[in-house]
Amino acid sequence: MPNSDFSGKTIQQLDAQDPLAHCRERFVLPDKRIYLDGNSLGPLPKAAIRRARDTVEQQWGQDLIASWNSHAWIDLPFSTGEKIAPLIGARPGQVVCCDSISVNLFKLLCQCLQMQESRSVLLSARENFPTDLYIGQGLEQLLGSQACQLVTVSEDELGQLLAGDVAVVYLSHVNFRSGRLHDIAELTRVAHDQGALVIWDLAHSTGVVEIELDAWNVDFAVGCGYKFLNGGPGAPAFIYANKRHHDFLSQPIKGWMGHQAPFDFVEQYTPASGMASFLTGTPPVLSLAVLDAALDEFAGLSVADLRHKSVALTTLFMELVSQSEELQELECRSPALAEQRGSQLAYSHPRAWEICQALLEAGVIADFRSPDILRFGFSPLILRYEDIADSVARLRKVMTGQSYLQPRFAQRARVT
Ligand SMILES: *Cc1c(COP(=O)(O)O)cnc(C)c1O
Repeated sequence: MPNSDFSGKTIQQLDAQDPLAHCRERFVLPDKRIYLDGNSLGPLPKAAIRRARDTVEQQWGQDLIASWNSHAWIDLPFSTGEKIAPLIGARPGQVVCCDSISVNLFKLLCQCLQMQESRSVLLSARENFPTDLYIGQGLEQLLGSQACQLVTVSEDELGQLLAGDVAVVYLSHVNFRSGRLHDIAELTRVAHDQGALVIWDLAHSTGVVEIELDAWNVDFAVGCGYKFLNGGPGAPAFIYANKRHHDFLSQPIKGWMGHQAPFDFVEQYTPASGMASFLTGTPPVLSLAVLDAALDEFAGLSVADLRHKSVALTTLFMELVSQSEELQELECRSPALAEQRGSQLAYSHPRAWEICQALLEAGVIADFRSPDILRFGFSPLILRYEDIADSVARLRKVMTGQSYLQPRFAQRARVT
C-alpha cells in the first residue's frame, strides 16, 4: 500500500472509513466481477427496478393515459432536470432532460449561431468525442460554410486560438479517451473575453467531478444520463441553459412539446418559455422514470465527497500499477496530477483489445478505445478500495501469463 497519498492506511482501513461505502448495496452488481466501466454504462440501482416495474405494470398497465397527469409523466423532463441541477452547480429552472447529447448539441450550436449573428465559427478540439464533431460537420454542411464553419485545433491550443469570428467554443469537460479534465472556468472566461459563447459537454464528469456552471458563468451545457448518473442504457441526455439567455432561446427542432400550449393544437409555433422550449417530441417516459429513480441515489450526497473518493480510487490504481513490474508495458495516458483528470484512467498497449478481453474473463470489466487504449472508469458509488487492489492483481496475472495472446481474445465485437 503506497504511503504517500494514503497516510499509511491499509486498504481495509480505507474501506472502513469510506463515507460512501453504504451506497454500494443500493446497486445490483454482478457476482465476483469488478465493474470498472461505470463511465460508459452506470450500474443498475435497485430502486430503478422497482420504478420500472411500477411504471410499466401499474402506471401504464392500469392507469393508462391518465398517467400523463396523475403520475406526472409530462413533468419528467423537468423533474429529472432539477435532480441533476445540484450536481452541476445550477440553480433551478435551467436543466431539462431530453433526447441524446448529439441532438441536444445540434440544438445548442444552432442556438449559439443565432445569438451571434455576425460570427460563423464553431471552435472545438480534434480530441473531442467524435459525435460532438460530427454534429458540427453536419451543421456546416446544412448551413453552408459561409454561415457556419467548424474549426478544430488541439486541446492545448484551444484557449490561444480564439479569434474574433468564433461564435461558440465547445468541448468535453473530461476527454473520453485520456480522462484529461479541462478547466471550465478558465476557458469560459477566455471565450467570453473574445465575445464567444461556450457549450460544455459534461458526459464524463457529471456525478463525479465538482461542477459550478452558474458560478463559472457558463452559457450552455449538455450531459449524459447513462454514464456516471446510472440512468440505464440509452437514458435521455440533459441540457443546461443559463438563465441570462432565457429571453433569447430559439432552437431549430420545433416540436409540439416545445410549444407554449401543446394541447391547443394550433397551427403556428410559439415557443414555451424557459427550458421547455428545448423539448421536441413526446418524452420517453420509461427511460425518464428509470433515470429519475437513479438520480435519487445522489440525494443527500455531496459531489465533493464523490470527487474525493474518485480521486483516491484513480490514484490508488495508478500507484499500484506503477509499482508492479509486470505492468510496466502499460503506458499511462492520463494526467499524472489528480486535479487534471476525471474519474477514469487510460493505458496504451499495442494489444489493448486483447488485454481487455482477457481481463474480462479474469473478472474485471473495463473497456477498449481505439486504437490502443485500455480504459478504466471508477464509480465512487459502487467501488471499494479492495476492488482496486483486486483488479490490479488480476491485471498483473493477465500480463504475466500473457494469456491475452490466445487467438480467441483477438475477435473484435461490434460495440467496444
Ligand atoms: C458518451 C458521450 C456522448 C454520447 O452522445 P449521445 O448522443 O448521447 O449518444 C457524447 N459526448 C461525449 C463527450 C460522450 O462521452
